[in-house]
Amino acid sequence: MANNKIPVLISGNGASGELMAAALAQSGVPCRILAPDVPEMPISQARTIAIWRGGLEYLEEIFTTQDFLADGYPIRAMSLIDEKAEETVYLPEDIDLTDEYFGYNLNLQALTKRARDHNLASGLVTYYPSRAECWISGGTLRSEDAKTHEAELIIVAEGKDSSTATQAGIAPLRYQTGTVAVIAVVQHEVPHEGFAREYHRPPGPLAFVPLDEYHSSIVWIHHDTEATRALLADEELLLQKLNADSLDQLEITALTEPAVIIPLASRQSLTFRGARMALIGESAHKMPPTGAQGLNLTLRDIATLQKLLVSAYQQGHDVGSAELLRNYSANRMKDSLAISSAVHLGNASIRLGGPFGWLRRTLQQRLMPQFPTLQQSLIRHALYGF
Ligand SMILES: Cc1cc2nc3c(=O)[nH]c(=O)nc-3n(C[C@H](O)[C@H](O)[C@H](O)COP(=O)(O)OP(=O)(O)OC[C@H]3O[C@@H](n4cnc5c(N)ncnc54)[C@H](O)[C@@H]3O)c2cc1C
Repeated sequence: MANNKIPVLISGNGASGELMAAALAQSGVPCRILAPDVPEMPISQARTIAIWRGGLEYLEEIFTTQDFLADGYPIRAMSLIDEKAEETVYLPEDIDLTDEYFGYNLNLQALTKRARDHNLASGLVTYYPSRAECWISGGTLRSEDAKTHEAELIIVAEGKDSSTATQAGIAPLRYQTGTVAVIAVVQHEVPHEGFAREYHRPPGPLAFVPLDEYHSSIVWIHHDTEATRALLADEELLLQKLNADSLDQLEITALTEPAVIIPLASRQSLTFRGARMALIGESAHKMPPTGAQGLNLTLRDIATLQKLLVSAYQQGHDVGSAELLRNYSANRMKDSLAISSAVHLGNASIRLGGPFGWLRRTLQQRLMPQFPTLQQSLIRHALYGF
């Protein structure tokens, strides 16, 4: 290894990049993060994220999670309501989980900050305050301040439109543009009792994830941006629609912060590797937020890469070898394709209705209950998956 060559360079400091570095630091592998800016993050209540049990247990292996779990909210049951208003409720025991919760609804910024604090304290993670500008060749790139970085392995964690992956010739499939998500925190009269609820009804899925007893964060998918903007401009109408589409089950009375619209775009990379390059997080897979799978899937990217990398590093082997990266990519492709297909199929069946809706209802309500082991293992994989 040349003197200035480092084992691992991580490009991107969102949740994926910070958590990847934390996992490596925990196992004694040094790395550098290219971090465009490290702002003092405002902790907004609205941007919460459901992390399922498998993900929580993995996080606990990296750093203690007690502090932010204490500020999070347990998800004790899940309810899926279809367009015919038929409800299917799942409890942890339905899929053989011994604890009484499926996962926690956590603040995304708090989780990312927890990883960063761990990294700063570890002495093994250094932050380089610039962005990757130009990929030069396997293991080498230049940052915006004209510095050349050489690493055995570059981990790309640049979010959904990674310039480094594109320059290295890795172009993801792109689809579902023109779709938006309304994100808000709502107050309701009926306590949620720890239920995460997903209403699979037109115009698109409406998900409630528990906060404290009388508040939930919502993600509501729409396919007409202008109509959605108009809806958000009229809070009374918005509350009416929210109550109607959630079958008046929670009796929503107010938004605690103004609702925001964010554009949604889906990406699926058909490989998770390049020359001395591994893709993680949204640089590899970006999907609609229904089912709360994005970061959970990323945690499995991180766990897989950590295991391969740590083993190579400890034995003094090349951490960016083609063989290691082939293993990583093959492992992650299957999981990522399975999860993103399930999420997209679920969404398409609402939007397109007809035979798709019939197929989903039949699978969900008629066939799956006949095969409890299959049902359990599918849900276990989506929620547990490690
Ligand atoms: C509304 C909503 C709800 C969600 N809910 C859930 C949920 O409940 N459960 C779940 O598991 N997932 C959920 N997700 C998905 C989850 O939020 C994302 O998967 C995750 O936050 C993506 O993190 P990331 O680090 O991969 O990407 P990003 O957050 O986009 O971070 C990428 C980082 O890379 C930096 N960067 C970009 N280009 C460069 C460059 N050239 N050089 C250096 N740095 C660069 C960027 O500045 C950014 O900091 C949700 C998503 C949405 C939109």
